Amino acid sequence: MRDVRRDAVLREMGLAPVWRLRAGGEGAAEAIEVLPEPESAPVAAGADQGGGAWSPPAQIVPAEPVPEVRSMRAAIPVRDLIPRAAAATAPVAAPDRRDDGDPARAGRIARMGWDELESDIGACRACRLCEKRRQAVPGVGDRSAEWMFVGEGPGSEEDQRGEPFVGAAGKLLDAMLSAIDLKRGENVYIANAVKCRPPHNRTPQADEIAICHPYLARQIELVRPRVLIALGRPAALALLDAEISIGASRGRVFHRGEIPVVVTYHPAYLLRNQADKAKAWEDLCFARRLMRELAEKA
Ligand code: SF4
Repeated sequence: MRDVRRDAVLREMGLAPVWRLRAGGEGAAEAIEVLPEPESAPVAAGADQGGGAWSPPAQIVPAEPVPEVRSMRAAIPVRDLIPRAAAATAPVAAPDRRDDGDPARAGRIARMGWDELESDIGACRACRLCEKRRQAVPGVGDRSAEWMFVGEGPGSEEDQRGEPFVGAAGKLLDAMLSAIDLKRGENVYIANAVKCRPPHNRTPQADEIAICHPYLARQIELVRPRVLIALGRPAALALLDAEISIGASRGRVFHRGEIPVVVTYHPAYLLRNQADKAKAWEDLCFARRLMRELAEKA
């Protein structure tokens, strides 16, 4: 049966004609199916889609069809998408090394519970990003989530509201979550590599990411997600302690300790590069198949 709501969400992501996961046969991976235009009208901005109101920003408009999303990769089981050598040599984070600048601080943060952690983040002045922030933005969501999404840093709206991903990029992230049947706050935790807004929304610098890393590390330890999703290069740097190219790393599974890490584009980047939404959709499908395989093995 057609899932009209998800079709509408994918359409709002600019993924038209709509692509939808199609269950394969026994033991087979899902494939991506290209669907015809839906009979229903596109969901209007602000319309209640049955899962709560969603107001896509003006920038999120249906893009031109991207015909080449049906790739061979989409039909290959996740286990075959993990390059054996690459998986073995994928960078593994070394939080202790990055925390050498102040091991006492890192050790103190590593023992914190949620309340103390969020309070400490709120009062933190460990790096220059504290100077321009209105408030620190620790993270949001289900503290026992299987999925944890990590972005790069708060933007203007996030800085005002104290919650990550609430601006235009946040709306797109919500649509991306919805497209794979996830929802903010339900089995999903969202955090950033740095907790304070970089001035003029610039990319956080490596030293800022390193200084803030103990907070992210503790959040991951407390949530204990089954899969981590790195949204953009700064997030990948924070999670993997390695400079990687997102384009060259898609479809691979990295590891942070025992936790698999999948990388994809940051929603803010996707707002500026709508054609790459198709790749992000592939990455989410990949992550979902990985999650299912992990669940089957558990
Ligand atoms: S970005 Fe992180 S390390 Fe820097 S002041 Fe904010 S909370 Fe502290």
